[in-house]
Amino acid sequence: MIHSHSSPESLNEVIIDTSALETNFRILQQRVGQDIQIMAMIKADAYGHGMVRAARSFSRAGCTSFAVAEIGEGVELRQAGIEGRIFVLLGYQDAEAQLFVDYDLTPVIFEDRALALLSQVALRNRRKIAVHLKVDCGMGRLGFMPAELPTLMTRLDDFPGITLAGIMSHFPLADTPDSRPTLEMYRRFQSACACCQAPGPVLCHIANSGAALYFPETCGDMVRLGISLYGYYPDGAKGKDRDTGEHLIPAMSFTTRVIQVKSLPPGSGISYGHSYITDKETRIAVLPVGYADGFLRTLSNTAQVLIKGQRARIIGRVCMNLCMADITSIPGVNPGDPVVILGSQGHETITADEIAHWMGTISYEVLCLFGNNNKRRSLTSDPKKMNEHK
Ligand SMILES: *Cc1c(COP(=O)(O)O)cnc(C)c1O
Repeated sequence: MIHSHSSPESLNEVIIDTSALETNFRILQQRVGQDIQIMAMIKADAYGHGMVRAARSFSRAGCTSFAVAEIGEGVELRQAGIEGRIFVLLGYQDAEAQLFVDYDLTPVIFEDRALALLSQVALRNRRKIAVHLKVDCGMGRLGFMPAELPTLMTRLDDFPGITLAGIMSHFPLADTPDSRPTLEMYRRFQSACACCQAPGPVLCHIANSGAALYFPETCGDMVRLGISLYGYYPDGAKGKDRDTGEHLIPAMSFTTRVIQVKSLPPGSGISYGHSYITDKETRIAVLPVGYADGFLRTLSNTAQVLIKGQRARIIGRVCMNLCMADITSIPGVNPGDPVVILGSQGHETITADEIAHWMGTISYEVLCLFGNNNKRRSLTSDPKKMNEHK
């Protein structure tokens, strides 16, 4: 691998396989069908994969719709040259509303006040702002309640700067393949869509990865995919095992290097709190990874890492920047040896689902923690693409 950096690199590195991102997009586009658009969810810095890098990868695979949480992320994408539609799901301050026009961003609206504000901004610019309405069909989170829609529709004429371009909702249970509420919610969403007429086309979208994979009848005009684009199933390993289609490819790996190897006699306490006491002569590898790097303290005495293609258990507490792996049964480990925290080495693989299981959480959180707390680099042999994350 060629390194073009001039500053010293961290021993910890999150590597993003951009070709996996492209492949996943193509697999999923084929799965949902060519006539259904995919909105790539690249909020939270693309679930830790790097927002601009991910947007470019998905663009190369044919993606033309992206979604971020806040308006600042949308501006950053445009400044990086990302084309297509960019949806701002949840946040901006009133004074920033002009940016929707300046950067051609699409706001998702979930309360009345925004309609008046955005309409004013649009008129001031002699433009129209296309908006998508968020409806709460059972998520119990953001959005207009369906009962509010008929009145809202009669009032749309009061906001001449606004064009209604889409209706969206969100599923709370679609990652459970046999959840009946999902279909009930979809019916509610369909009635909501039916009462939202506009002169132009109105896109209806509700499906996330779970719905797109397990409830294809809910795909509507567009699906909003996050976790599946990054190579994971919303219900974890179960989903992967069940899936008979072409397997999605995890795009993120996380590696570090051994910084010290030593032997401790039986009865030695390891790390803060001595939560682990050796019962025999024990060889440990000290690793420069800790909770500050997203390798959370709950992984103490639980997680495994890969060294020389074998699994080694983390013993003792995970510290801020350090943790210890038991390498008693792995001969020949030396300082500088590569260690895989997430990903493959030799014939072994540790997935974000496995780490999530150790942490009592879901792959989404693991990817955000690792990706957003470490230096990232794209894995690619093309030097032009290699620098794209800078
Ligand atoms: C994050 C998000 C999604 C994507 O969910 P996945 O389970 O990652 O596919 C879809 N819709 C909305 C509104 C979201 O916030």
